[in-house]
Formats: sequence, structure tokens, C-alpha cells
Amino acid sequence: MIYLDNNATTPLDPRVCDRMTWFLKEHFGNPSSLYPIGRDAKELLTEAREVIASALGASRSEIVFTGSGTESDNFAIRGVFDALPDKNELITSAIEHPAVIESAAYLEKNGKRVTYVPVDATGYIDLEALEAAVSPRTALISVMHANNELGTIQPIKEISRIAREAGVILHTDAVQSFGKIPVDVDELGVDLLTLSAHKVYGPKGVGALYIRKGTRIQPLIYGGHQERQMRSGTENTAGIVGFGEAVRILVEQSAADNIRIGELAAQLKHGIDASIPKVRFNGPEDGRVKSTLNYAFPGLEAEAILLALATKDIYVSTGSACSEDSEEVSHVLSAIGMPPQFARSTLRISLGRFNTEGDIETVLRELPEIVRKLREISAYDPELD
Ligand code: PLP
Repeated sequence: MIYLDNNATTPLDPRVCDRMTWFLKEHFGNPSSLYPIGRDAKELLTEAREVIASALGASRSEIVFTGSGTESDNFAIRGVFDALPDKNELITSAIEHPAVIESAAYLEKNGKRVTYVPVDATGYIDLEALEAAVSPRTALISVMHANNELGTIQPIKEISRIAREAGVILHTDAVQSFGKIPVDVDELGVDLLTLSAHKVYGPKGVGALYIRKGTRIQPLIYGGHQERQMRSGTENTAGIVGFGEAVRILVEQSAADNIRIGELAAQLKHGIDASIPKVRFNGPEDGRVKSTLNYAFPGLEAEAILLALATKDIYVSTGSACSEDSEEVSHVLSAIGMPPQFARSTLRISLGRFNTEGDIETVLRELPEIVRKLREISAYDPELD
């Protein structure tokens, strides 16, 4: 199998699997229990929390574990509005993940105002428009660090300067940047930051929200006293321990991994550009997470290419994996001004730690042939484009 959909999810690193298996066998204690088996579980959670905090340049008390990146985004957005009843405006971008877009829609339904700042043709946010949207009524700016479909990296530092000057809280969804480019909360100047374990070779169903000390935010989930009362519910202990191990591995090897993955992606991009006529690369050449390649194949339905690749055991995604079952054209591709017929021909290829040079060679052998054959069937004439 050649897995090239690492932005949708990553395979569990075998070392993470080993650590989780060990934990599940040896530790069933509830971390809130005061006797030894509870304390042991708590200690292991603390260890994971420390590893993750330190990878972000944060302190342990600033990390709250959640059930997913989606929950962390909801928590950040709704939690700030609950804490600031006098403010009623959210500023976000037009290309956020549905976890943010739908949280924004929820606020709108409840009478808040949301500004969706436009992006340019490569997905880069319009900073002037963002700055112009800030008002004394703004509670929160939420702009993702790297986009899941295009890989575009947003200027969070500049956005932080704007937020700081206006005294506005800043949240960034770093689900797609963490582990791929440096993510340091002070360097970025953010107050809230979302992570998800399954995008960094950890387990599904675990996320984290970094909350800078002093940030005004209310919990999303009420109940017991877990996570310093910021996220009640008995912790997903094995998941969190796995998340910690995944981040320990990231710290150890992501710098080297990312150079190698970047080279493989460049090789793949070069090969596609050279061997498939009329492909359209979407996203910026620079200022992009290099492992994400997004291409339109004019004249074809992306799904047909995806299914043809799948028969060769090569797995990629159309548009955004999070909305794979939706008929709608990706809101990200619409926001960069891509006409629907191109958007429907778009594939996202995302590389990861376990890809090899052999994978890239196979894709470069199979993909051009698949596109050629499908275009032949659909009687596509590149000259007419
Ligand atoms: N944010 C971004 C940018 C993502 O790409 C994703 C997942 O695709 C999420 C949030 C949601 O994370 P989770 O799958 O953990 O809910």
C-alpha cells in the first residue's frame, strides 16, 4: 500500500502502539483516584502533558487534553465567547477547517457577528482586511496555522501583532502544522492553539488545547474536576499516553523527517509537472507545508482518479478528506477563486514519515498513465482549456 493521505490521518507509529499497548495492559487506574494505581496513571498523564507542553514552548498547566482537534477548536471559540459576554465579534478566515467554520456558524445563529477574512489565490490571508475587521467588540481572532488542503502557512506572528494591539485573544488551529514546521506558542504569539494526536502518528480521538495562562475562557464540557475543571470527563488515558509518545518521537526526529519528506514531495511535484499535461498546482510554491500537494487535473473528476489509484493500492484524497462524502465543492478551493469544474478535478496528495522513494517512483509511473487513459475516455482536449 502506498499511503499518501497523511493530512487526513497518519498511521500509528509502531512505537506509539507499543507504548499504548503496554499502558493498556499495565494501567487501568483512574487518574483521579488517590491510591497508587490511580496515581501511576496520573503520573503518566503528567509525563505526556510535559512532553507536549515542552514541544510547544508552553508550561504543563497550559495544556488541556480533549477528545479531538475538532473539540479543541469548538472549545477555543465557544469558550472565549462564553467568557466575554460583552463582546460579540469573531474574526476568522474563509478557509478554516469545518471545526472552526461550524463553530463560527453556531455563534452566528446565536446572534454574534463573524467576519470571514478572504484569502488570495494561494490561500494566504488578506492581512489588511483582517486588521480592518478588528473592533472594540471583537472577542477572538481564529486563523489556522497551516491549511489542510493547500498547506498554505498563515502569518500568525503578524496576526498576533494585530491582536495584541487591539487586546484581542488569538487562537490558531495548528493541527496541520505541528510536527511539520516549528510551532512555538511564544514565537507565534498565540493565546490558544489546537492540536490533534492522529495527525502526528498518534491515536485518533485525542486532542489538546493550549491555553496561555490568564486567557479568559470557559469550559465546553462540564462535570467532574478533570483537566483543572477545563474539560471534565475521565481522561482517555491510553490515548493521551500515546499522544505523548508520538510527540516525544516528533521532537526526536521531525527535523530530519521533514527534510526527507520535503525532498520526496519535491520529487513528486517535479515528476507530476513534467509528465502530466495541463495540471494545475494549487497553493503557494513557498510558505507552504511541503508535504501537501494539491493538483487540479482539468477535464477529469478527481474521484475517478482517486478510485483508479486505489486499484493500484495508492491512496490519496479529493479536496478535503474531512468532507469526502460531501457533494459540495471544497470551500477552500472556492475561496481561492477556483472555478467548480477545476475544483471537482482536484486531488490532495499528502506525504508522511513512512513514505519512501519507491512510493514516489510508483506514483510517477501509475498516475500519468491513469490520467492519460481517463482523459482519453472522457475525450478531453487539453488544447480547448
Ligand atoms: N483542524 C484541522 C486543520 C484539521 O485538518 C483537522 C482534521 O482533519 C481537524 C482540525 C480536526 O481534528 P480531529 O480529526 O482530531 O477532530
